[in-house]
Amino acid sequence: MSTARACVLVEPNRVEIWDVPVFDPEPGGALVRIVAGGVCGSDVHIMSGEAGTMPFPIILGHEGVGRIEKLGAGVTTDYAGVDVKPGDLVYWAPIALCHRCHSCTVLDETPCDNSQFFEDAKKPNWGSYADFAWLPNGLAFFRLPDGASVDAVISLGCALPTVLRGFERCGSVRMGDTVVVQGAGPVGLSAILVAKLAGAREIIAVDMHDNRLAIARALGATATISLKDSPGERRRQVYDRVAVNGPDIVVEAAGVLPAFPEGVDLAGNHGRYIILGLWGAIGTQPISPRDLTIKNLTIAGATFPKPKHYHQALHLAARMQADYPLAAIVSHRFGVSQARDALTATASGSVIKAVIDPDLN
Ligand SMILES: [Zn+2]
Ligand SMILES: [Zn+2]
Repeated sequence: MSTARACVLVEPNRVEIWDVPVFDPEPGGALVRIVAGGVCGSDVHIMSGEAGTMPFPIILGHEGVGRIEKLGAGVTTDYAGVDVKPGDLVYWAPIALCHRCHSCTVLDETPCDNSQFFEDAKKPNWGSYADFAWLPNGLAFFRLPDGASVDAVISLGCALPTVLRGFERCGSVRMGDTVVVQGAGPVGLSAILVAKLAGAREIIAVDMHDNRLAIARALGATATISLKDSPGERRRQVYDRVAVNGPDIVVEAAGVLPAFPEGVDLAGNHGRYIILGLWGAIGTQPISPRDLTIKNLTIAGATFPKPKHYHQALHLAARMQADYPLAAIVSHRFGVSQARDALTATASGSVIKAVIDPDLN
């Protein structure tokens, strides 16, 4: 059996490059050659141990675009019924569904009770910081539409599916809404794009980094606020734009705990606060619960997008790539052997979106 490279997290903060076997696809599955593995903010929390214990050793990476190398027995289409063949580019939802558990069948919800986000690095594996990904039967993949840019699709990685899932669960942006987005990384940028397309009247992005805020404006933010300003100054700038009622929707896409009490404080009367970024930030924060009643405030969260959200995101990115600088969100590229640098750069916030490109070494 041939081998190929994979970036393995052996234990928190210990990344190694391993040669791992390239397994043939199982019936119903596929083997893909990675073209772009997305480096996600969650990966930084997974590496540091902040996201909890993982089944080490694991191959990092849950976002990917790859080229079909081999199809498993019986596979002629993707998970939306589109014909596929070796050589086609595909994008996938990183969790296989079993379709015979309470979540899958009774609740029609993700994650599946039997799902695995990661598999042991020595076993067939769908981690995308690698030369190949082995997609098991039940792990939904979708063929990229002709002309779709790989960078445009991977730029919003799992972030755009997460945002689509979040607005579906917690209520859509309505025409004329005023929206504040905390954090202008891929999740925040996705929220800005979706809010813009939905007809939001004001979209205010808050972030520490000017390069992220510039992309935020290009994707539809009507105003940007620097996190370097004090919380009081940030609040004043938000309320100057949205008047006394306050924002209709605040989206948490910052991934850091102190964003939470600030979001509760910023949210307007009859507003909604949607928590998307705190998946990897375990901990607590004080808020004033009375704010929920006196503002008639709804707080909701969402995670683990469904396969359909990946399909929606893929087609949204392909359709919008000409009108919005989606491909330009990919600011850094690293080879498989440079994955540690990719994570360090992503943790520093200087990166907007990094990808692992196996062609780079
Ligand atoms: Zn299931
Ligand atoms: Zn991700």
